[in-house]
Amino acid sequence: MEEQNTQVDILIIGGGTAGLTASIYAARAGRKSIVLEAQACGGQIVNTERIDNYPGLPGISGFEYAEKLKTQASDLGVDIRLERVRSLERNGNRWIAVTRRHRYDAAAVIIAAGAVNRHLGIPREVELTGSGISYCAVCDGSFFKGKDVAVSGGGNTALEDADYLSRICHKVYLIHRRDQFRGDAANVDKLEMRDNVEFVLNSNVTGLIGSPKLTGVEVTDKVTGQKRTLDVSGLFVAIGQVPQNDAFADLVDLDEGGYIIAGEDCKTKAPGIFAAGDCRAKSVRQLTTAASDGAVAALAADAYISNLS
Ligand code: NAP
Repeated sequence: MEEQNTQVDILIIGGGTAGLTASIYAARAGRKSIVLEAQACGGQIVNTERIDNYPGLPGISGFEYAEKLKTQASDLGVDIRLERVRSLERNGNRWIAVTRRHRYDAAAVIIAAGAVNRHLGIPREVELTGSGISYCAVCDGSFFKGKDVAVSGGGNTALEDADYLSRICHKVYLIHRRDQFRGDAANVDKLEMRDNVEFVLNSNVTGLIGSPKLTGVEVTDKVTGQKRTLDVSGLFVAIGQVPQNDAFADLVDLDEGGYIIAGEDCKTKAPGIFAAGDCRAKSVRQLTTAASDGAVAALAADAYISNLS
């Protein structure tokens, strides 16, 4: 049941890097904004042990980074609330977002709802995440320096992850469920040149070995049914992401993967709705690009509101 009708200039949906950065830019532009986060502030980065690729903050933990960002936004007066947006609809030139308890009435909306990594869905995957299983080679690869690791997936992310890891690790197994890769041929060619990369094709990861840390993976050949154990201390799962855009599917265009189609200016086809960060269709999904989107979307929303009056 809705209890209140709260008016804001910019409603920001999602409290990850893109959403919180947007809130900082909105506050500095003098716009009243509220950030609505469905789960916990900080986004996917809170699960990263150590960030080494964010300019100016080498070695910071994902948790500490997220806390700093949240504090920076709060100190600027941004109102951050843990509420899930159930629906968003147009009312004249305003947008109405409804959560379990509130109605929000906004001039502009920034969707920064993020995406979650697709999981393999096999037993012990959650338990071993952070103890050998990772969803980000660029973030966590350096922990496996000189070791044997596996990558699961056949798209460009998996191919690029395997390439990146082959330059750090002793050996990389690339496990893909078909005999053809989905990713670009040029990426496949590059891996074929590497001595320390072995393709394990037509195969699924069917078991995770080791406790409390991963020590191996069981793979099953789909054609022969044969099982094989790969002795690896790391498994990088790169089988795509699942964007969190279902509530907005009727308002904006989504690509075939469910990502919001918006240009580099973060404008969607709906006037006053902007998309920022991992939920937007784009080729690079990093902390830096999420922060960049947040800034661009907030400034675009600010300009949009100025043009309304
Ligand atoms: P993707 O292209 O959707 O590929 C996902 C891969 O994971 C596919 O090979 C798929 O197998 C496999 N897969 C999906 N579900 C699986 C499951 N349950 N078990 C095992 N394997 C599974 O995802 P992505 O690689 O993350 O790339 C996303 C988008 O970003 C793509 O458009 C990609 O081209 C783009 N991208 C671009 C660059 C670049 O241009 N530099 C870099 C990275 C990503 P199937 O092939 O059998 O479906």
